[in-house]
Amino acid sequence: MSSAGRFAPSPSGELHVGNLRTAILAWLFARSTGRRFLLRVEDLDRARAGAEAEQLRDLLAIGITWDGDVVRQTARGTLYDEAISRLTGAGLTYECFCTRREIQDAPSAPHAPQGAYPGTCRNFDPAELEFKRSTRPAATRLRADVAEYTVRDLLHGSYTGLVDDFVLRRNDGVTAYNLAVVVDDAEQGIDQVVRGDDLLPSTPRQALLATLLNIPVPEYVHVPLVVNADGVRLAKRDGAVTLRDLAEAGLPADAVRDTLLESLGLPAGPLERAMAAFDPVALPREPWVWTGVDSARR
Ligand code: GLU
Repeated sequence: MSSAGRFAPSPSGELHVGNLRTAILAWLFARSTGRRFLLRVEDLDRARAGAEAEQLRDLLAIGITWDGDVVRQTARGTLYDEAISRLTGAGLTYECFCTRREIQDAPSAPHAPQGAYPGTCRNFDPAELEFKRSTRPAATRLRADVAEYTVRDLLHGSYTGLVDDFVLRRNDGVTAYNLAVVVDDAEQGIDQVVRGDDLLPSTPRQALLATLLNIPVPEYVHVPLVVNADGVRLAKRDGAVTLRDLAEAGLPADAVRDTLLESLGLPAGPLERAMAAFDPVALPREPWVWTGVDSARR
């Protein structure tokens, strides 16, 4: 299978200019390196009816095209189950019965970093396990044998982050994002992951998981986010930030695309033209500040 990049939105609502800018970058990175570009809808959680269609429409409106069919995570449960079974077969998972509250209130394990799962359910003996199973459904956690893991990122260099016994499947049966993303990227032949740098802290977990599953770790490229005037990651409440809002404010999709390209130091116009000028080394490394429609090219 030839190599590929991807964009993997969660269909929780309309995309905003920050998501669109990341999508453009993912497209540029993939296409400029001769990769296929795939679209995966991450609908395991947070899906809102109608959002997927709006997101695809908006991606097309700014010139983003993808190869093959759109893939939806909700149709891929068997792949996730198989991966979890493989890990379980290798002794790398355990059942966890903790509520969020119990985890918050538990004393943290000695030397464990802040926020790490304290390991409450890690070493139950068979009798304890049997009793716990009678109380409530279990989540499945990874039995991680390291507390941190290092990844390489094209823009960030070497990055070391926390790894704990993170959840692979929630106790309501929903596959966790960290497991699904790793399984999907591998199964789809994705060897280049371009996404917002808010996900950099999750990357050591994902790379460890890939390694434990004996699948290749992709090249990571975590790109700067779009932020509001206060320096906070852009969100819907920041005003007119979706293509629909901006069209109502007099800014058509082409103008939004051009604004986003210029914020990246790239020529306005069709994405193919930007691709000819695209140089990862020259990309801005700072977040881009969106100050409303005034940020945009008119
Ligand atoms: N679905 C995630 C999001 O929309 C992105 C996941 C990824 O790119 O790995 O935030």
